[in-house]
Formats: sequence, C-alpha cells, structure tokens
Amino acid sequence: MDATMTLNLLKDVKSLERDEVVAQFKAWGEPAYRADQLMQWLYQHHSTNWQVMANLPLSLRKKLEEQYTLQSLVPVRVQGSRDTTQKFLWRLGDGNLIESVLIPANPALYSEGSDRHTLCVSTQVGCAYGCKFCASGLDGWKRNLEPHEIVEQIVAVERLGDRGGTSDENQAGEPSKTRLVDNIVVMGMGEPLANYDHLIKALRILNAPYGMGIGARKITISTSGLAPRIRQLAAEPMQFRLAISLHGATDAVRNKIMPVNRKYPLAELVSACRDYQRAKGRMITLEYILIAGVNDALDQARPLANLARNLHAKINLIPYNKVEGLPWERPSVETCENFLQNLLGAGVTATLRREKGHDIDAACGQLRLKVEKETQTPA
Ligand code: SAH
Ligand code: SF4
Repeated sequence: MDATMTLNLLKDVKSLERDEVVAQFKAWGEPAYRADQLMQWLYQHHSTNWQVMANLPLSLRKKLEEQYTLQSLVPVRVQGSRDTTQKFLWRLGDGNLIESVLIPANPALYSEGSDRHTLCVSTQVGCAYGCKFCASGLDGWKRNLEPHEIVEQIVAVERLGDRGGTSDENQAGEPSKTRLVDNIVVMGMGEPLANYDHLIKALRILNAPYGMGIGARKITISTSGLAPRIRQLAAEPMQFRLAISLHGATDAVRNKIMPVNRKYPLAELVSACRDYQRAKGRMITLEYILIAGVNDALDQARPLANLARNLHAKINLIPYNKVEGLPWERPSVETCENFLQNLLGAGVTATLRREKGHDIDAACGQLRLKVEKETQTPA
C-alpha cells in the first residue's frame, strides 16, 4: 500500500474548483485564462495525463504534476450496453471498488437508443448506516469518496463514451463530443449526506459551466434521513432535488429496518423535509421499497399518504429487489398494486415500478429501478 499512500498525500486536480485553480496559478505567476485551459482538458477532453495539455506551458505542466495528482477511474468491468442499463465497476487509486449505473432516459426506447442518460453515482466505499435490506451496508463503511472520485464517475463515463478514440488524441483544444450524462442521481453506494462537504464540492464542479455543466435541478440527492444535513442542504444556494428513503411510515416500522431512525425519528425527519420543501419550493420524493411482511400492509398506506400530503411530496413505490444473503422478499404483484391503489385513493401522487427485476446484476438492480422512477416522474 506504500505507493498508493504516497499518491493520496497529493490533492487531485479534479477536487479543485476553478477559483482554487486560479488562486494557485496566480501564486505561480500564471494568468487566469490558463485555469480555463486546464478546465477544458479536464472536463471537455476528459484528459487522463498532463502530457496532452499542449497549450499549457511545459513549466506549468511540470508544477502541476509535482503538486497534484490527475487520477482517473479505471473500469474494472462494464456490464450492459449504452442503450439499456450500463453498470460500471471502477477501481479507485487505493484499490477500493465502487459502482456507477448509467440509465437511458426512456427505457421504452431500449432498442432505438437514447441520447439522454442519467448516471447514478456512489459517494462512499460501503455505508455505515446499516439498513437491514440493503447490500451497500453489508460490509460496513470503509471511507468517504474524495470530491474528484465523485466527479470522475461522470467524467469517466463520458470518456468511455467518446467516439473516434479518446479525447486525449484530440489536441486541437476545441470542445469535443456531445455529452452523454445529463441527469445525476446520488443513489449509489453510501449515504451522500454523511459525506456532505465532498459531495457538495463535487456537485459544484459538476454543475459549473467550466465543469460538466449539469443543472442543479437535474441532480437528485437521496438520503436515508439525516435531518440536520437536510436542513444544511436547504440553505445551499443550489436547487438540488431531494429524495427521502422512507420505507416505513411509522417509527415502529422504520426502527425495525433503518437504524438511522433511532437517531432522527420520523417527526424530526419530516420537520427537516418541510424546511427543505419551503426553502426550495420544490416537490420532495418519498422512496418506499415494498418488502413482504415488513411494510406492505395497508396499515402503512394511510400514514404514508398523510405524510406525503403533509409534505406535498410524491411517492415512488419500488418492489424490493432481492439481495443475496438477506432474507427479505418482494411482495406479490397484487399486494403492490393494492398498496398503490390505496395511496391513490387517498388523493396523493404515487407511482409503482411494475417491471420485473431481471437486471443485468441483481446487486445493482435497485439503483436502476429507482433511477428510472426519478427520471420518469414529472416534477
Ligand atoms: N444512502 C442513500 C442513497 C443510496 S441507497 C439512501 O439510503 O437514500 C439508494 C436507494 O436504494 C435507497 O432508497 C435505498 O433504500 C434503496 N435500496 C437499497 N437496497 C435496496 C433493494 N434491495 N431493493 C430496492 N431498493 C433498495
Ligand atoms: Fe446506506 Fe442508503 Fe443502504 Fe441505508 S439504504 S445502508 S443509508 S446505502
């Protein structure tokens, strides 16, 4: 591990916002426009080494190389095709593995292809929150992702999508290729709000015109319910969408399957959500996995509908996606339909994912299902 530890002592250049690069360049006696040139290489050409940055003086490239890393995510495995759901397994600089999932905007167009895609990104290696039904928490928490490791998930997907060779071969300096990813959902491995600062920094870079230019309204953050962080997010200037992994409409049910509920019980979570909704004026999404015999009885439907009405939220019902090694099962189709009808009867906005869960890989199927929900339901 010696080599990787040395590597990690240096900051990665993709963890820097433009202002920070400008300040660094100023200290080196370089003009601000050099920062824009660097940003072009990073975020338009998806460059993986300093040598290709032909319009930057050699001396500057040397300084950069000495003081910063330029790490890229290495695809260990790519499953599926660009027209369906594509799952990427990446190797990080220290050898840890994370996943991203790319979903076409309209799954009905599977065979025709689609230019619009949503990328589901991870924010941590593992997860400390230990929800009983979730694969991500099974091995516990290893570490937070650095901002550049979040940013690189999008950049690396674009890099793989570049046609006609890598962008690095295009040295002319002009912007290349149309962008593949235009929506981001932060629903991969990890609890995003437990890695708050790195998450926000990464999202600022992804959002910025100099970065990947993805609108804040096209970025959805999903949380298991870290109430104080939801309030903090409400105070951010950027208008992210918020999704709450609710999965239970009473403390009794939620306590059973989500340990986080003991720290932030429903009343506190709901109050933080209300603050978010008020501050942003946008609809929140309540994610509700239906798990057989756990939260699928109609006695949960009424409190759930009340919560949604209270928060002006929409509900996404998702039949549980079986995880190997865990005892939980998805309810029958009839049970799911019944639950949905009950919510609709109560006058709230709710949708149910009806497609069967035959995914390229069950371990990540839940991501795809959730992401499709997010992108299909109008705001
Ligand atoms: N930690 C955050 C974001 C990552 S989890 C959160 O919990 O919101 C992304 C979503 O997948 C969450 O809604 C989570 O509850 C859900 N999920 C986890 N395991 C699942 C499974 N086996 N089937 C369906 N959804 C699952
Ligand atoms: Fe962590 Fe979210 Fe999985 Fe819970 S559902 S263990 S918070 S990743």
